[in-house]
Amino acid sequence: MIAAHAFTGRTVAVFGLARTGLGAVRSLIAGGAQVIAWDDNSAARDAGGVEGAEIMPWREWPWETIAALILSPGVPLTHPKPHEVVVHANRAGVAVIGDVELFAREIRADASKPGRAPVIAITGTNGKSTTTALIGHILSTNGFDAQIGGNIGKSVLELASPSARSVYVLEMSSFQIDLTPGLKPDIAVLSNLSADHLDRHGSMENYTAIKQRLLNQVPKDGQAIVGVDDAFGAAIFTQLQGPNIAATAVSVGKVLGRGIFAVDGALYDAQNGQAEKVMTLSDAAHLPGAHNWQNAALAFAATKPFVKDNRAIATAIASFPGLAHRMEDVGHIGKTAFINDSKATNADATARALAVYPDIFWIAGGKPKSGGIDELTSYFSRIRRAYLIGEAAHAFARTLDGKAPYEMSGTLDAAVVSAARDAAASNLPQPVVLLSPACASYDQFKDFEQRGDAFRAAVARLPQDAHLLKSGAAS
Ligand code: ADP
Repeated sequence: MIAAHAFTGRTVAVFGLARTGLGAVRSLIAGGAQVIAWDDNSAARDAGGVEGAEIMPWREWPWETIAALILSPGVPLTHPKPHEVVVHANRAGVAVIGDVELFAREIRADASKPGRAPVIAITGTNGKSTTTALIGHILSTNGFDAQIGGNIGKSVLELASPSARSVYVLEMSSFQIDLTPGLKPDIAVLSNLSADHLDRHGSMENYTAIKQRLLNQVPKDGQAIVGVDDAFGAAIFTQLQGPNIAATAVSVGKVLGRGIFAVDGALYDAQNGQAEKVMTLSDAAHLPGAHNWQNAALAFAATKPFVKDNRAIATAIASFPGLAHRMEDVGHIGKTAFINDSKATNADATARALAVYPDIFWIAGGKPKSGGIDELTSYFSRIRRAYLIGEAAHAFARTLDGKAPYEMSGTLDAAVVSAARDAAASNLPQPVVLLSPACASYDQFKDFEQRGDAFRAAVARLPQDAHLLKSGAAS
């Protein structure tokens, strides 16, 4: 745990007592602050009390004595409108920050402080977790003490305090960046940008500006690594170029004169202006698809300053075990593969999965996002049948109508049974039952992990004999 000393002897308010809020309570108290806290959920309040926070309804908070408000990234800061607690804090002139800001002030407060450890921060619309985990994997297999956290795994304040070999590898959501004005990452990575979470950011301009802020916070001797395959990333990269900051472009599909790129299934390092082949990307069995090559290229760029030997990075990329719920192979029955891509909560992420397989029995739907699945039309020829679930089912059916066959399955369990049976009966050489919902999960599940676990469990309940599936015995 990292004790936060920025507020020693003062009172700090914590709103939201989930993973990051509890981490903040623990860290602030360890650093000698008093904490008052609130969460609308009573179990969360109890957990905060156990950690030593004084639980007090936020409307009763003594704003005149509060030094800062630590806001959970799940609570609206700006859109669709600021939560009332934010309005009150602003009115009282109390700074509203997040747990990563506490971390930043602690770790990075003094550049000359011994034990100051490097920070790599990763953001983007898709690929953040995979890239973060992969960077961590490359660093740990090369002898570094990679401390991975933030929007993935542990909250930043639960990570170990710095040692001589520590490198902090932090996944940052846009909500976290909004609450972290003081993080100056040595290396910042922007994977890609497409429309997502716009309900919480108001507009694409605002969303892009927040992501860009993380790159702008890179100090003079730092490095920004930017995926330039979408128009937003390309524009940001152009703006970053200048004397003050080293910016590295990363592309999949384009040969770059300078930068890191993947073409024809191979990764190239052209950072010094001359392209050198690093590896064949199919050697990385758990990074399938061009989108994962983007993650591999980004991770390569981010770890190069630490691991001097390109071959050592390549070996580590090849041995990456993959992450659950991202195109995770959860089983086979007969010729059918069952792929859990529950983390695909927007159309862009789903597009990447649809691009990988030729014959797909596609389970989709959930809580819809703006834009629906219109942008997936070019992949519909790969869909042998779609199995629609959740709130988005009717809207998705309208988009699919006349272009790909579908059924209204309603629930994930029903969808798995139908899709498995149709795949077994199809006589296709490599049918894939793919859960890649292009939707958030909140209408039927707690989160994407629970949805992916439910998929895995439903697959495990299927009869393991393809003939039984074909005859409909599973239904
Ligand atoms: P994030 O943490 O940004 O949500 P993940 O690595 O968890 O990213 O992947 C989320 C989803 O996006 C998964 O469905 C995955 O297959 C897909 N994905 C992963 N990397 C990329 C990428 N570089 N571009 C587009 N989609 C991606």
